[in-house]
Amino acid sequence: MERLTVVSAESEPRAIFRTVFCELRPRSPIPPIAIEFCRFANANAFIQLKQGQIEVRITDVLHGAPQEVLEALAFILLSKLYRRPVPRDASSRYRRYLLRKDVRERISHVRQERGRKEVASAAGSAYDLDEVFDAVNERYFHGLMARPKLGWSIRKSRQTLGHYDASHHTIVLSRILDSPAVPRLAVEYVMYHEMLHIRFPTEHRGARRCVHTREFKLEERKFDGFDDATAILKAL
Ligand SMILES: [Zn+2]
Repeated sequence: MERLTVVSAESEPRAIFRTVFCELRPRSPIPPIAIEFCRFANANAFIQLKQGQIEVRITDVLHGAPQEVLEALAFILLSKLYRRPVPRDASSRYRRYLLRKDVRERISHVRQERGRKEVASAAGSAYDLDEVFDAVNERYFHGLMARPKLGWSIRKSRQTLGHYDASHHTIVLSRILDSPAVPRLAVEYVMYHEMLHIRFPTEHRGARRCVHTREFKLEERKFDGFDDATAILKAL
């Protein structure tokens, strides 16, 4: 479970937590409440009391969830914090929401995107990705691109020759390319393509991982030996 970035902390969820707090502890003054929506790899939420302040971290999957769902979550978390039984209708309402088809799909997409990736080291048997990256960086990006994490995939995928995982800032190349039978030109081309994904960050649309804009494609054509490289990859 890692916390990647904070999306936002809105005042409305805070109002919900304050209201629920009053219901659970009508006699206590409301402590300051801080709420963060975080890019967790799973649907999850945490609460803690720290120096008199209630800190809540909620997965950004629940960002924009209906009010009654956030209210149910507030009941669950605050009950836990104050060691009280969780109201049954709150836990069932929250669970029902997580089971909704569209929410389930969002969660599984997020898990796929952000879950820890199994990636082998950059040094392969035929090619060293650190070295390939440096060469492509020097040639096409004036050496200005900061090196992301680089690694060979565990499996020899033919479908996905490479991909850039923005949430882990990692370029992964398919191990199928790590062979003396594959010309270096093709490896450099796949690396170049993935580096363009860093250069042209795109919004995720639905389940599509990479979106190639017109601008992206024009830039991609500037690769020396573009036709040769794509022909080699097709032949794989
Ligand atoms: Zn792509």
